[in-house]
Amino acid sequence: MEASIRNKKIVRTSLVGILGNIALIAMKAFIGFITGSSSIISDAINNLSDAMSSTVTIIGTKLSAKKPNKKHPYGYGRIEYLTATVVAALIVFAGCSAIYESITSLFRGEKPTYDWVAFLVIGLGIAIKLSLGIFFRIQGKRLDSAALKNSGTDALFDVALSASTLVTALVSHFAQVYLEGYAGILIGLFILRSGVLAMKESLSPILGERIDDKWAREIKADICAHPMVRGAYDLIIHSYGESEKIGSIHIEVADDITAKEIFALEREIQTYMFEKHGIIMTVGIYASNDTEPLAKEIKTKLLCYVHEIPDILQCHGYYLDQERQYVTFDLIVNIASKRSGEDIASEIIGKLEKDYPSLRFHANLDQDISA
Ligand SMILES: [Zn+2]
Repeated sequence: MEASIRNKKIVRTSLVGILGNIALIAMKAFIGFITGSSSIISDAINNLSDAMSSTVTIIGTKLSAKKPNKKHPYGYGRIEYLTATVVAALIVFAGCSAIYESITSLFRGEKPTYDWVAFLVIGLGIAIKLSLGIFFRIQGKRLDSAALKNSGTDALFDVALSASTLVTALVSHFAQVYLEGYAGILIGLFILRSGVLAMKESLSPILGERIDDKWAREIKADICAHPMVRGAYDLIIHSYGESEKIGSIHIEVADDITAKEIFALEREIQTYMFEKHGIIMTVGIYASNDTEPLAKEIKTKLLCYVHEIPDILQCHGYYLDQERQYVTFDLIVNIASKRSGEDIASEIIGKLEKDYPSLRFHANLDQDISA
């Protein structure tokens, strides 16, 4: 199925959800005020937060599809994170209102009264939500959309919350035991929980996330498969939304290849990265000469010292510059390490300087950004 048709179908399914929820909100708000049941009001607020999420999600999808321009050459993909954050904040607010409403109704000692119309509307509400949930699940599977499938699961969960309002209504009508306030608080807590989770999920990509370990290893392995590449390190990817990703990587190559060869290699990697992973890639170069006897000897010692310190996750970019009598290498120190990277680096350099007093050493500290 073409991407644009798929997107249209996803949007259309979401619209059905929004309309369904609006109907539910109207029905429940009406019955909630007539009966004075805070659990039904909370349930209406829950549907309201669903309708808001779907609406803002559609708006976010549309806005983020806007083409890049001179002022925003990275495009508008990150708008989706912002709209998701706004929705999350609204859901948190909705949850707090539902809890507040229910607690005050408990203090007021309200005794809701129901008639057969109220029971009918509550039952109808459950049936509508159940149908929506099943519809979303089916469409989610058909269109292979995680968002729709999640909405479906969410809706089925909401059926349970709505069922609790029916149970409390029946209990209060037939046994004169008024549990609405408690059910309302419970529903409010569920709304609050989903708001906080949504907030975490939307803020995380704005802050910048670690690249998925499996994906990072796959990219590095693919690049290392090239016969001229001896190693791939320091993979960084910045995401400007799902469709705009920019990154960089360091590759190690023999120190005697020409600029012409490096250029061809870089182009090949860039094309591959864009076509397979959709990433605009910058390639940095590490020269390697560890086949020479002295270079090999120093590297063996270096790796030996590195292995003595468990906090060092990786050592790469090693190079001996014979003319300048200079050795450089990169170290990645565990972020959780109690010792500072500088401290660890100077310990290793100290040992190497003792072994090779005529050489100068420099350790470059890399961040533990990707696997
Ligand atoms: Zn490095």
